[in-house]
Amino acid sequence: MKVRTRFAPSPTGNVHIGNMRAAIYNWLYARHHGGEFLLRVEDTDRERSTPEAIQTLLEAMKWLKLDVDGEHLYQSTRMEAHLAAAEMLLEKGHAYKEDKGGLGQGECVIFKMPGKDISFDDGIKGTLTKAAENMQDFVIVRSNGTPVFHLANVLDDIEQRVTHVIRGDDHVENTFRHIALYEALGAPVPQFAHLPMIVNHQGKPYSKRDGDAFVGDFRDKGFLPEALFNYLALLGWSPGDDREIMSVQEMIEAFDLDRCQSSPAQVDLKKLTWMNGEYMLKLPVEEFSALCFAELDKAGINAEPEYAEKVFALVRERVKIVADIAPMIAYFFSDDYDYDEKAVSKKLQKEGVADILKQVRALLAELPVFDEASTSKALHDFVEQSGLGFGAVMPPVRIAVSGTQSGPDLFPILAVLGREKVLARIDRTVERFLA
Ligand code: GLU
Repeated sequence: MKVRTRFAPSPTGNVHIGNMRAAIYNWLYARHHGGEFLLRVEDTDRERSTPEAIQTLLEAMKWLKLDVDGEHLYQSTRMEAHLAAAEMLLEKGHAYKEDKGGLGQGECVIFKMPGKDISFDDGIKGTLTKAAENMQDFVIVRSNGTPVFHLANVLDDIEQRVTHVIRGDDHVENTFRHIALYEALGAPVPQFAHLPMIVNHQGKPYSKRDGDAFVGDFRDKGFLPEALFNYLALLGWSPGDDREIMSVQEMIEAFDLDRCQSSPAQVDLKKLTWMNGEYMLKLPVEEFSALCFAELDKAGINAEPEYAEKVFALVRERVKIVADIAPMIAYFFSDDYDYDEKAVSKKLQKEGVADILKQVRALLAELPVFDEASTSKALHDFVEQSGLGFGAVMPPVRIAVSGTQSGPDLFPILAVLGREKVLARIDRTVERFLA
């Protein structure tokens, strides 16, 4: 039997990474087994499932390259079929009508539980059982005539001939009811697999309060889709060895449900950021440059291409996420850069620093050639001859030309900035902080 999985989100305008992880697992499972990955938009809540919300969902999937097989199924188009099935269940005695609460608001349709224990073999959690006495009959059509989630969800999975339902474990309790529905409808029960929650460091459901939680947040910050995909795939699944950076093809080959963990998976944004940095390093130089130019553009920085490329090369290995780029290199493009206050007070505004900077300036001004090697030699010689030590010389120079203590190696920075800018920046820094 061909594997058919599906992603069945209820669009709300944002796509939580937990939902997207479920989509990724369904996709990987289908691709691993040469099956199909379907999309069903559970858009029956018309207030939340706006066209924009659906658009956001589709864009998030496209961004992560989760290609869907066949037509998308919109649950809202299936109301008639849902109601017809409810009629059938009534006729067969699997359901009954009741004026719930006797409020005279009309009758709803209630599904009659079969009165037996229900068990299923969850692909991740193992065998789960619920005793008959702990399961109550439940509404499948409201008194206003609209079908309830359980009915619609099961009928649509039958319609889409879904063989494997991989979803969050907030649906485990529903599954017992769903199985009763499948049986009453005379349809084969799919294989279920319930993914553990993703949680914050306190073990609570991971939410917006803990940091970025929506796919769009990560896209806007310049995370690469490949990195987020890889990270989410490993959030609760492992290939069984210590591989972490994996291509999509490798993940497809290695993916299976029996290596999905049944305990909650903790979100670690630091790890995601590290992973993104690894993916950034793999980008071809032209792609990295294009991202950098786009970021400079967004920051309103006009960059001369040849000079800009040199700057990009300097930070290539330091950039973890795209949003870091502009702040990291802004000082190359404007003399009006911010000074890091702590750096200024700790390393710059000290006895003797003005004198050191003036001496360094004089040395640099006299160099016959101004490049990485010559500036490096000049400063190293100065450190040695003066007996001052690196710590007394290099940080003030770095802060003077860049405003910050961190960044790429100093000498390539000097070389890229060029003599004129370096001298002017030293002068200005002395005047501003040390005069
Ligand atoms: N729309 C439901 C949800 O997003 C579907 C759950 C499912 O069956 O996958 O929670």
